[in-house]
Amino acid sequence: MRERNTKTVDPPLGKCPACDATIPAANLVVAYEAAGDWPRMLAECPTCDEPVTPV
Ligand SMILES: [Zn+2]
Repeated sequence: MRERNTKTVDPPLGKCPACDATIPAANLVVAYEAAGDWPRMLAECPTCDEPVTPV
């Protein structure tokens, strides 16, 4: 028998470029794809309290 978490936790989006805090998926503000580039997204940093691009 396997044990499973009943709660599914999304992986974090990345880290704040300003303060290096981990940004949880729940903080995602907007995600968009730039042609020929990696997907960009904007998420609110829990520490800076402002939208940043997770790295
Ligand atoms: Zn930050």
